Amino acid sequence: MAPRRKKIYEGKAKILYEGPEPGTLIQYFKDDATAFNAQKKAVFEGKGVLNNRLSEYFMTGLGNVGVPTHFIRTLNMREQLIRQVEIIPLEVIVRNFAAGSIAKRLGLEEGLALPRPVVEYSYKNDALGDPMVSEEYIVAFGWANQQDLDDIVALALRVNDFLSGVFYAVGIKLIDFKIEIGRVWDGDFMRLIVADEISPDSCRLWDVKTGQKLDKDVFRRDLGSLTDAYTEVARRLGVLPTNATAMAKPTLIN
Ligand code: UDP
Repeated sequence: MAPRRKKIYEGKAKILYEGPEPGTLIQYFKDDATAFNAQKKAVFEGKGVLNNRLSEYFMTGLGNVGVPTHFIRTLNMREQLIRQVEIIPLEVIVRNFAAGSIAKRLGLEEGLALPRPVVEYSYKNDALGDPMVSEEYIVAFGWANQQDLDDIVALALRVNDFLSGVFYAVGIKLIDFKIEIGRVWDGDFMRLIVADEISPDSCRLWDVKTGQKLDKDVFRRDLGSLTDAYTEVARRLGVLPTNATAMAKPTLIN
């Protein structure tokens, strides 16, 4: 049966549908994984359920410490209600340790602690492969102004401090992550809020003791089961989806 609601946008890992009220959208998490600008693709059963739950957990936590996000509430295993925002076409990346593209670009050993958290930007454009851009580019091309950028850096660093602590508490080192920022209007007043998702798809997460990778690099670098890695993250944080918990441990009712 074809769904009656209107599809607004379909991306690589998520679909956005029209929400029940104006100014809201429904965000659906797919099981699809892509890497290297979608040249590598696979489907991992249950990934969408895990990312829906994990993103809810991080966004709710951020809200509780005063960082505004698009998250409203979870609707079901794969869907959450979110605020409609105007997405700024940037990937905002925060790095605590060298890995991935910065390691390659600067010839750094993966895992090297950076002297301070480093914020960088990529222009969201699949055809161009999301090129890295400077603040100069961002202001010159009008994607954001200097005030927006100050707010974006402040938001990104608050998210970094929050996530670093939450992960460290369960024995995980937050190497780097990507967030997206959206604009919302309250009358004439514009605010920037955290949008999109926060999940192991968009973070690098290493076990503190063993260095084992618990993020999308497992798929990018063929290191094992992506679902197992994400399940481990969810298990440590105590947020395994209820059916997975039920499957893991059936209980007798007497
Ligand atoms: N990242 C992402 N989406 C992208 C590019 C990067 O979520 O399109 C995340 C990635 O998972 C990592 C961080 O941003 O946690 C930094 O990625 P990097 O620039 O090192 O790029 P990569 O090595 O993934 O190409």
